[in-house]
Amino acid sequence: MSKKISQLPDLAALIEQHQLVQGKPCAACGCELYRTNMYQWPQPVCVRCHPPRGYHEWSDQVDALYPRKRAS
Ligand SMILES: [Zn+2]
Repeated sequence: MSKKISQLPDLAALIEQHQLVQGKPCAACGCELYRTNMYQWPQPVCVRCHPPRGYHEWSDQVDALYPRKRAS
């Protein structure tokens, strides 16, 4: 952790670009972004617990907005 992020990613742009919705924090990871373009699951699922294709390309933005919970 040598570099500090000075500016948070644009949440609105992220939501629009990836067809997301903002919901209550995921119980598992704390992320508030859910996928809406899903058909495998009956309800929107958190993008971090159920990463969509190509998620690795913008996962750092999600991590910046919603820091991962520590396991212990
Ligand atoms: Zn989650």
